[in-house]
Amino acid sequence: MQLRENPVGDHKSIWPKRLTLWDLISLEALQQLQDSLAAVGDVQVVIADPVGNLMTMPSNERIPGLWMSPSENGAASDGGLPQGLFAQVRRDLKVCTQRHEPLGIRQAAIPIIVDDKHLANWWIARDANGLRLQDQVPAANEDRGLPVAAPDAGDQDNGASFAAIITWVEGFTRQLTQLGLQNLMLARQGVGPSHSDADMEGLEAQFDSLLQARTEALIVANKRLQLEVLERDLLEEQNERKTALLDAMNRVLQQTLNGEDEKSLVNTFLEAAQALTRSPIGFIVQRRGERWWVMAALHRAEGGRYFHLPYADQPFPIGGLWKKLVKTGSVFTMQGAVDQTQWYALPEDFPELSPLLAVALPSHTGIEGFVALANNDHGYGMVDQTDVQTLSKVYVEALLRKRSERARRESEQRLLLALESADEGLWDYFPQTAEIYYSPRWFGMLGYAASDLPCDFITWTTLTHPDDLSVLKGTFERVVKGTEDGFRIEIRMLSQSGQWHWVQTRGRAAERDATGQVYRISGTLIDVSKYKQVELALQKANQELQRLAALDDLTQIANRRRFDERLAEEWRRARRNGTPLAVIICDIDFFKAYNDTYGHIKGDEALHAVAQAINGVLKRPMDLVARYGGEEFAMVLPSTDLHGALRVATEVREAIGALGIEHRASSICPTISLSYGVTALVPRDGLASRLLVERADRALYQAKARGRNCIVETAAERVKAI
Ligand code: GH3
Ligand code: MG
Ligand code: MG
Repeated sequence: MQLRENPVGDHKSIWPKRLTLWDLISLEALQQLQDSLAAVGDVQVVIADPVGNLMTMPSNERIPGLWMSPSENGAASDGGLPQGLFAQVRRDLKVCTQRHEPLGIRQAAIPIIVDDKHLANWWIARDANGLRLQDQVPAANEDRGLPVAAPDAGDQDNGASFAAIITWVEGFTRQLTQLGLQNLMLARQGVGPSHSDADMEGLEAQFDSLLQARTEALIVANKRLQLEVLERDLLEEQNERKTALLDAMNRVLQQTLNGEDEKSLVNTFLEAAQALTRSPIGFIVQRRGERWWVMAALHRAEGGRYFHLPYADQPFPIGGLWKKLVKTGSVFTMQGAVDQTQWYALPEDFPELSPLLAVALPSHTGIEGFVALANNDHGYGMVDQTDVQTLSKVYVEALLRKRSERARRESEQRLLLALESADEGLWDYFPQTAEIYYSPRWFGMLGYAASDLPCDFITWTTLTHPDDLSVLKGTFERVVKGTEDGFRIEIRMLSQSGQWHWVQTRGRAAERDATGQVYRISGTLIDVSKYKQVELALQKANQELQRLAALDDLTQIANRRRFDERLAEEWRRARRNGTPLAVIICDIDFFKAYNDTYGHIKGDEALHAVAQAINGVLKRPMDLVARYGGEEFAMVLPSTDLHGALRVATEVREAIGALGIEHRASSICPTISLSYGVTALVPRDGLASRLLVERADRALYQAKARGRNCIVETAAERVKAI
């Protein structure tokens, strides 16, 4: 920067007639200052005379159209500068600022006053909202050096930094004009301006350091801007990657749905992983028994075509970092050239791997192997790593699914052979996914074709008899919960022809995952209808046998044994409940004479008729009549007091009368009649059921004594003749 060496030139007078700024500082220096300030301060800047006429040329057009802007009073000013502002400065002789709302501009005029003379003004302006960086990033890219305000800085922040610029310009101008003035005075005194060189240098140094500080601030802002642009690009890239990852996952999953083998699944996965990470080289190593094998190795050519590398289907020597990989299930990324010794015993003609990303393939039973991707142009980043890990999980899931399907087919075939004669159907249930597999025989047993019904648990429950549903569901629930390990249940299932078949199913928890959760329940199903029918018939026969054992042959009512059993039962129940229990014992009058008169066969018939008549009177299901002896009957009447029992006895007596079986030999009645002993009590501790029989018997004896064909109750041991 140069001050004028001889600012006054040949002027005779000490002060030029009309001192101007460039009497003190050269125009070039001013222009240079102005340009630096514009660049450093992110402002539009010019120097104008006190009236507002431009003295320097604007170095840039930070605010397009400004020069055309209308002045404050509506008329365009000279050079487009706002005359109102300059008038204010002339009046106040200090910094004046103004906002130009329609354009959103903040501006300031800073007077340059030397020796009380208002020589000129700095005019600086800036868009009030900063540069709206977010909107203008592409345009601003060319001159990234300029933006100062942070992209998200509000108006206030922007304003503050604008104010700081004004202060800085004021201070700077003061020093500058001071120097210029000193220079002028020295010149006037005939001393060369060289005296002030040191001062000038100091000022320059000061300016330089300011410039440097400013530049550093700019670099920071610029970095931030670059980061933001990068971040945005990255987001877009991430979106693309997400889509690509989803595509890849779909492709791998698709493999489990169609019937293709494990090999095509491996290739699909490897291709997808290579495409995702743009890796020309990729290979997969997996455990096969005790050894590790290269399952697939692909080269991805330009244009995305894949070629098999000749390393597949060969054992892979696991050592060094590979070993660590399959032991710990970790991830390795190597950005530089891979030290082959670290990777230990790669096949000799293996391509050099640089950079490299290797991701383990963990399953619930351990590490299945790893996928290695190599030689992309840009190295492997976090995104590559996480994407491949995600895809690997999908792959392992698909792989295990395929294997279990195969194992299932194999084990089923074996079992089918073994069980063909046993006629068993098979099922294989995966509670975590609610999937179930039924063998063709499972369906065939009930007359269905495998294609008739969906392979899910609902099929089973739908075919199950409603009464057996809780047995089926409850059993499976217990196995899943782990409270039961194996089971054998018999349930009814609907056959295709609409009949209920008894089936027996046996099952057990066949596999558990790493956390001990039941993962698979397998079992067999067999139609046991035939056995069940026999069993049911047997049950029925048994019941009949029991019934028969309790029945009196002649009269077809209960026998004495049954009566004794029931009496004991009811006695206990009545004692428990505190309810009364009644017993009636009755005996045919002069039956010996009846036999003698009509014969034994007629006698038997009469016995049968009397028994059935009594039985017909008893309405309550818990009432029982039994043939207690030859021509003697006993009734047990639960929850019946003496009053009720007397009513029953009366009804029986009437029913017998209604039978009207002639009995000529009876001295008391033309037809068959009975004598009745009735008793009732609420059982108490210390009494025995025998007591009831004894008391009823005693009452019966009384009835006979009383003249027969009558009812006697024992409550007061009194005779009640009817
Ligand atoms: P009472 O009025 O005192 O009861 O005189 P009863 O003749 O009925 O009494 P008794 O005990 O002297 O005789 C009972 C008779 O019942 C004896 C037997 O001939 C007859 N009797 C017992 N069981 C049967 C049977 O199963 N069939 C036939 N036809 N008669 C029977
Ligand atoms: Mg008798
Ligand atoms: Mg008798």
